[in-house]
This record gives sequence, structure tokens and C-alpha cells, in this order.
Amino acid sequence: MKIQLGRTGLFVNRDGLGALPIQRASMAEAERILNKALDGGIDFFDTARAYSDSEEKIGKSIASRRASFVLATKTGARTAEDFFHDLETSLSLLHTDYIDIYQFHNPNYVPLPDDGTFMYEAMLQARAQGKIRFISITNHRLHLARQAVESALYDTVQFPLNYLSSAQEIDFARFCADKSIAFIAMKALSGGLITDIGTARTFLAQIPGVVPIWGIQRESELDALFKAQQAGDTVTAEQQGRIDHDRAELSGVFCRGCGYCAPCPSGIVINMCARMSLLLRRAPSQNFLGQTWRAEMEKIPNCKHCNICKSRCPYNLDIPSLLQANYQDYKQFSELLF
Ligand code: SF4
Ligand code: SF4
Repeated sequence: MKIQLGRTGLFVNRDGLGALPIQRASMAEAERILNKALDGGIDFFDTARAYSDSEEKIGKSIASRRASFVLATKTGARTAEDFFHDLETSLSLLHTDYIDIYQFHNPNYVPLPDDGTFMYEAMLQARAQGKIRFISITNHRLHLARQAVESALYDTVQFPLNYLSSAQEIDFARFCADKSIAFIAMKALSGGLITDIGTARTFLAQIPGVVPIWGIQRESELDALFKAQQAGDTVTAEQQGRIDHDRAELSGVFCRGCGYCAPCPSGIVINMCARMSLLLRRAPSQNFLGQTWRAEMEKIPNCKHCNICKSRCPYNLDIPSLLQANYQDYKQFSELLF
């Protein structure tokens, strides 16, 4: 099913593909996945300059089919000079002469005209040159995402959304629909905490104007998405039960795995270690009880309590405490191994 990306007037399949995970696929696998996605009707691809070779893989795999999909990428530039450097690099790697949706990548403020940064002016110039079609932004902070939409200066907004989101976050998605601003939903599986794509998908299909970008690394994940599409867009009683159960189990503060707290000077892989208790119980636990993750968890006592991570976390989590709690739980869970 196609839906309109808000005021852009572009129509895309309700399910987009997030191209962050294809960094971890080989070039041959990426080519197979991207072409199969297009063949199956997925026609919206979202990547970023920051996702290492993701843009290159898209460029090499599907640039010859450019007219048949909508392309979004992002720049993390903080100066106009870096902005144009990023844009030219993306155009070159993507083998295209235009990007449909060009997004500021999670800035810590909303670029506006005449704010002295020249970042919004850079977007206007790129659009006037025909190198981008729509001006957009991604963010993990609700107040900034909302400010961007209220400014009416952005054509789409990308924000985390799934059935574990707060009522405020879900209200924000509805607010965007009222304003005709397309809502591109990242983290539709909450960084791996949601394990049933069918339930995740039908939940989001109930909210008007939301286009999730599913992070796909393996062909089997793409097949699971196609299967979920065939099941329709209505939340079944069984799915509602799963949503209620997961909400009860994951209520309160938890790490979403976004990674914005990195890097840690003590080398702690915070976005995994701070949610290890959940991962142990929600994914096959043997994935996390081997030597690799045990060694990563053993870095937690080296935390210097510098709080750099806390200052970067968009969810204001008390990360050192969360890590400690996960460390204690991990030791108990795997006590035979310690
Ligand atoms: S407070 Fe601990 S976990 Fe956070 S950045 Fe500092 S050393 Fe790393
Ligand atoms: S601790 Fe915060 S910033 Fe770090 S991964 Fe978790 S939610 Fe993201």
C-alpha cells in the first residue's frame, strides 16, 4: 500500500528500508537485499553519510533503478562548508544527481534561517541547485523534533516510534499528520527489544502518515517484512496481547540502543551493555553469554563516572547506574560462567 509523504506529495510504500544495517552485509548480500526490496515494492530507502559504506552499497546496487525509488540521506555537518562537502560525497557515492529528502542528522538544535549558522541557508541553496528536493531533519529529542515541525520549515521529520513509545511520542506523530509533515519512524523494533515485526508493523499502521524504515541486514529479515505485509494492517487480539505484555515488562526507563552516548572513555559498549538484562530475556540468551559479551560486560566496573554519556543521552538516563544494575544482573544470570 502506498501512502503520501506529507506535504512533499511523494507517494511511497508504507514500509521503507533503513540502510544502516547493510553496513554489516557484504556488497553482494547488500545488492541482493536492495534489489529484492525494490522488486517487492519497497521504494523508500533511508541512509546517512555517517553509515560508513551504506551509501556506496546503495549506489552500486540500485542506482540504475533510481527513477523507481525515493532516496533519503543525512548530513551530520555543523558548518556550511562541511554540509556541501557531505552533499557532494553522498551524491557521488549514491551515483545520483539529486537526493529526494536531505536531513540534518540529529543536531542538538533546530537550524533556522538567520540563526547565524548558515545551515538552513545551505539547505535552501542545495535545493535551488536541484541537488536536493526536500529539507528535512532527524532527531531523538522530542522537544527539538516538535520545534522543527512547528517551524513549518521542514518537509519531513524522522523520530523513534514503536509500540513501546510514550503517549507523548505517539501524540507527536499524530500532530505531524495534522500538519501534513511526513513522520519517518526509526527504531520501529526499539533497537532489538521488539522481536515480532508483524506486531510492530500493524501498530504503526494505525497512526496516519507514519512510514517506518525497517533496518534490514539479512535477506531473512526482508522476507519477514514481506510476510508481515501480507498479514494486513489491523492489530489482532493476539498482537494487542503482545503489545500489552511488552509495555508492562518494559515500562519505565530503559536504554533504546541508539548509541548517541558513545564513545565511552572506558571502552564500554553502552548501547548494548546498558540493556543486557532485557536482551538476555528477549533474545536467545546464548547470544550474549559467550566470551565476547562477557568481556564487554567486565568493562563496566572500569566506569570512571565521568558522566559524559549522561550528557549525550536523549532519554536522560542515569547510565552509570543502569550499567551497574545490568552488570549485577548479568553476573547472577550467568553465575556458572563467572
Ligand atoms: S560515566 Fe562511565 S559509562 Fe559513562 S562515559 Fe563515563 S566512563 Fe563511560
Ligand atoms: S544510554 Fe541513552 S544514548 Fe546510550 S544507547 Fe541507551 S538510550 Fe541511547
